[in-house]
Amino acid sequence: MTEPIFETVSLWIDGAVTSATSGEWFATHNPASQVVLANVQLANDEDVDRAVQSARRGFAEWSLMTGAERGRILNRAAAILRDRNAELAHLEVLDTGKPISEAIAVDVLSGADCLEYFGGMAATLHGEHFDLGGSFAYTRREPLGVCVGIGAWNYPIQIACWKSAPALACGNAMVFKPAELTPLSAMKLAEIYAEAGLPAGVFNVVHGDSRTGEALTRHPDVAKVSLTGEVGTGKKVMAAAAQTLKHVTLELGGKSPLIVFEDADLANAVSAALMANFYTQGEVCSNGTRVFVHRSIHDEFVEALRVRTNAMTIGDPLAESTDVGALISRDHVAKVLDYIAAGIAQGATLVCGGKRVDHTEMLRQGNFVEPTIFDACTDDMIIVREEIFGPVMTVLTFDDEDEVVTRANATPFGLAAGVFTQNLARGHRVAARLEAGIVWINNYNLTPIEVPFGGVKQSGIGRENSIAAIEHYTQRKTVYVELGPVDAPY
Ligand code: NDP
Repeated sequence: MTEPIFETVSLWIDGAVTSATSGEWFATHNPASQVVLANVQLANDEDVDRAVQSARRGFAEWSLMTGAERGRILNRAAAILRDRNAELAHLEVLDTGKPISEAIAVDVLSGADCLEYFGGMAATLHGEHFDLGGSFAYTRREPLGVCVGIGAWNYPIQIACWKSAPALACGNAMVFKPAELTPLSAMKLAEIYAEAGLPAGVFNVVHGDSRTGEALTRHPDVAKVSLTGEVGTGKKVMAAAAQTLKHVTLELGGKSPLIVFEDADLANAVSAALMANFYTQGEVCSNGTRVFVHRSIHDEFVEALRVRTNAMTIGDPLAESTDVGALISRDHVAKVLDYIAAGIAQGATLVCGGKRVDHTEMLRQGNFVEPTIFDACTDDMIIVREEIFGPVMTVLTFDDEDEVVTRANATPFGLAAGVFTQNLARGHRVAARLEAGIVWINNYNLTPIEVPFGGVKQSGIGRENSIAAIEHYTQRKTVYVELGPVDAPY
């Protein structure tokens, strides 16, 4: 497994690499080997304030540019991302532990898609006109100001793009904090934006832990916080943001149902269930981790899952043939193994997996856990109720449509859901009844930039991607224009 040699990583403020004043550092590791990839400077309150003030200056210039000018810069940045896909995907694999085949196909290119989409949209943003007889009114669609993006560690560069592109397209400036465990690619994105011609201060990067996130969320000059993270973090961010009534977008966790009816194309549903649980080692927020299978096809379905899971290749994330890479950290491995132990203790049937993979020296160094399937699960089990965020699938059996919809909805989460059936009416009927921000019929986990993405219930507030994101990064100002005399009653 090749190891890179990295210099230290500082902050990105005012269009340049900038040292933190805190004097604090933290290391970021390769999850597949534990090798330190870089020592990263932590931003304290003073550093956060410098980044926010830089963003205020950047906003003053950027918000006066036309949408077309902003769009051209975003499109140039998208082209650079595409040109550097191989290099950036490699970096993302080193920092996250995910397989290279996925990073090459999805992580960087979906970021480029996002920059192109919102780059194109920038010139189309507009207000409305109201004819009121002797007067008229119009609305101006204005940016919010300084927006903060706070990312999770599973899709670092994609998350940085999903937050920054719509914010910047609308004329806002951003301070972005990547997750402490995956700080590297956000700095590359900052360099790329600068190379594309983004004015200094419009996109800033600060590194750190929850203290840095809290400082950003509390800052009085910040107008909006967009977080991708756990439900608990979302609640803290919302509470802190309330102190100055900041706007929030919260993309949080899930425990999504994937429902396979008796008339489903079985091979297709098995493929989707595997992708919905083991892609990126199961570290995907929208994963369909509660797989509800109709009793009549249960045995055949579970056997197909077992055979195909046992054929998956676990190991070196940089190898083209790898299907399952390394989990993000040792702590996360321990958490996932605790959940597996809880599943066994509560009586679920282990179909396959269930162990750390450590039979070679290389695997022992890394955070590898077997893709794991539990059958005979019940709704009250911990592994069925809580988000594991690792390669653990739970299979549950059902008998009829009403029953499965009720059970699928019996969770505080509401991020995503899947329905597998060849009955068109049933597919749409069930999709309408599921409490989820996105429902896939006969596929799973696709997130094209054109369609809204986000959760209901405790999985989040607001939507990323699509035209819906524009609503979350702009506000309307109404201008009323009188054409006649003021009609005063006194
Ligand atoms: P966390 O909630 O632990 O962290 C998310 C980000 O918030 C990190 O940058 C973290 O910093 C920061 N943070 C932590 N505490 C605070 C705070 N009090 N105030 C402000 N910022 C804070 O999530 P993970 O990184 O562990 O990511 C996994 C979670 O993210 C899962 O629940 C997953 O479902 C969810 N997720 C949701 C997605 C969606 O689109 N709905 C997509 C991807 C993931 P630090 O890194 O230092 O802890």
